[in-house]
Amino acid sequence: MIRGNDPILLTPGPLTTSLRTKQAMLSDWGSWDAAFNAVTASIRRDVVEIINGGDDYTCVPLQGSGTFSVEAAIGTLVPRDGKVLVPNNGAYCSRIVRICKYLGRAVVDLAVPEDQPATGAIVDAALSADPSITHVAQVHCETGAGMLNDLSGVSRACSAHGRGLIVDAMSSFAALPIDVRATPFDALVAASGKCLEGVPGMGFVIVKKSLLENRAGNAHSLAMDLHDQYVYMEKTTQWRYTPPTHVVAALRVAIDQFLEEGGQTKRLARYSANCATLIDGMARLGFRPFLKPATQAPIIVTFHAPPDPAYDFKTFYEMTRDRGYILYPGKLTQVETFRVGCIGAIDANEMRNVVSAVEQTLEAMGIRQVAPRAAARKAA
Ligand SMILES: *Cc1c(COP(=O)(O)O)cnc(C)c1O
Repeated sequence: MIRGNDPILLTPGPLTTSLRTKQAMLSDWGSWDAAFNAVTASIRRDVVEIINGGDDYTCVPLQGSGTFSVEAAIGTLVPRDGKVLVPNNGAYCSRIVRICKYLGRAVVDLAVPEDQPATGAIVDAALSADPSITHVAQVHCETGAGMLNDLSGVSRACSAHGRGLIVDAMSSFAALPIDVRATPFDALVAASGKCLEGVPGMGFVIVKKSLLENRAGNAHSLAMDLHDQYVYMEKTTQWRYTPPTHVVAALRVAIDQFLEEGGQTKRLARYSANCATLIDGMARLGFRPFLKPATQAPIIVTFHAPPDPAYDFKTFYEMTRDRGYILYPGKLTQVETFRVGCIGAIDANEMRNVVSAVEQTLEAMGIRQVAPRAAARKAA
């Protein structure tokens, strides 16, 4: 893989893309052109296939970053008098709560500790307690800490209570297994620039057709109306409003590479190897992950920041970037952390290399105390 002189992005979107994916953006496409519209149609088909959606599900793509599609899904699918339960263990869950408030949808913000997964039992109890909840909005991998939530358990609880389920699978789709036949949901939201390894700029909602088809006029916003986007696209094969043509072309080629690699299971295997190599290497330097292994998704790892007084994230970030690797700040409220992504067109070699870049940075900054103090005491 030739990447030129770009640093390696260890951020979970935008992420490092392959040369082939970048080269797919060297053409200009007309939005009315049949060839371009065939590309859109093929992407829609392929992503529905990834979750085994068959003919019951359709994919509605939408311009914008992933959040735009989350907002569109909630605005289009949750009735105006509906009520959304958000099991909240991190920043992306909190974002859904904010979306509901903006859209004037009643929302139950159910606090779950950020080092604990949302489970079927937690959702089951909340649904039993409040029969007026119509939908659960569940983040699959909470990218804030890298937490793997129990999507199967949550789906079972929703089915048992007959409530809708909207899944934010932004950072897990195409890497972690999701089969709608085993894990039913109303809709799942993902985007071009995450585990499919495209470039950022469009999201998409994989939604049960029968539900979408009776949501005409429910959305609060024209641009965010997935029903309208769907009806127009089915009728004309075109996007409503200017499509992100280069992003779509890149996503097509990114999906080709996903299929050539062997699909979701092979992508998961590569990301899992990346994650294990990273955690092992960082452990040798003294770093400890924030999450327990059982709840750590192989997508992004949160590490405790070194307690050494010589540490500050900005310098650590800049010096590691100068060695070719872009880290990500922490997103936790209580503890000082930083994050390293495992996704993108990278393999275990890159993870070994980022560990040596971090090692050199620690030395250059004069950081000696790397392990959290409690862990250091335990080890002593
Ligand atoms: C990336 C991500 C989003 C969308 O973020 P954008 O910045 O709008 O692309 C939403 N949810 C999760 C869990 C994510 O990881």
